[in-house]
Amino acid sequence: SKITIAIDGFSSTGKSTIAKQLAKHLGYIYVDTGAMYRAVTLYAMQNTFVSPDAFYKEALISSLNDIKITFQFNEQLGFAEVFLNGKNVEKAIRTLEVSSYVSKVAAVTEVRQKLVEQQQEMGKNKGVVMDGRDIGTVVFPNAELKLFMTASAEKRAERRFKELSDKGDAVTYEAVLKNVEERDYLDTTRKDSPLVKAIDAIEIDNSHFSLEEQFDKVLKLSED
Ligand code: C5P
Repeated sequence: SKITIAIDGFSSTGKSTIAKQLAKHLGYIYVDTGAMYRAVTLYAMQNTFVSPDAFYKEALISSLNDIKITFQFNEQLGFAEVFLNGKNVEKAIRTLEVSSYVSKVAAVTEVRQKLVEQQQEMGKNKGVVMDGRDIGTVVFPNAELKLFMTASAEKRAERRFKELSDKGDAVTYEAVLKNVEERDYLDTTRKDSPLVKAIDAIEIDNSHFSLEEQFDKVLKLSED
């Protein structure tokens, strides 16, 4: 019978790649919760609620009811793309600028309440692989399988830098590493649902593993 699989961990550990493959293999729904926090961040940017030197948190909180986040499965890509108020923002949310604000937005209790509620609704029928930071601890504390993925900050920055430069973004490795380290700090130290490994999560350090090796490991765990 179908289970709930929670995959948490630091940014750019390869969580989403593994989660997508696993969902496809098992015929499960895949939910990228980071994309939801990124979409709210994009909305905040578009409405100038965030800038390099200011964050109008109350204005964002007052607008939460105007933010509608949905997913739509894309056959070609093999996963669901994220939409903000009906507009496909799958690409727009993957910039370093969004990454530089997202952990601030994700620290807002009201933002988390809204998104957690929607995530619980999306996963209520099981048969879901959800990746994020608080899935095994807050969203689905009773998930049958919980994974916690880690890798060194340098390895993760390398991966992220390659992804962004392959897309044609003019970024430097140093800027990406700085962002990875800043997000780690904000995500692990925020008051509301900080990033921690659930006590019953299986830790996977993938600094030294290829994607195939990781996938084989995870697949075995999901079949146990
Ligand atoms: O997974 P991704 O790196 O796209 O997530 C972007 C950011 O969204 C994280 O750095 C974190 O601040 C926030 N996030 C969160 N809780 C989740 C998923 C993401 O706080 N469940």
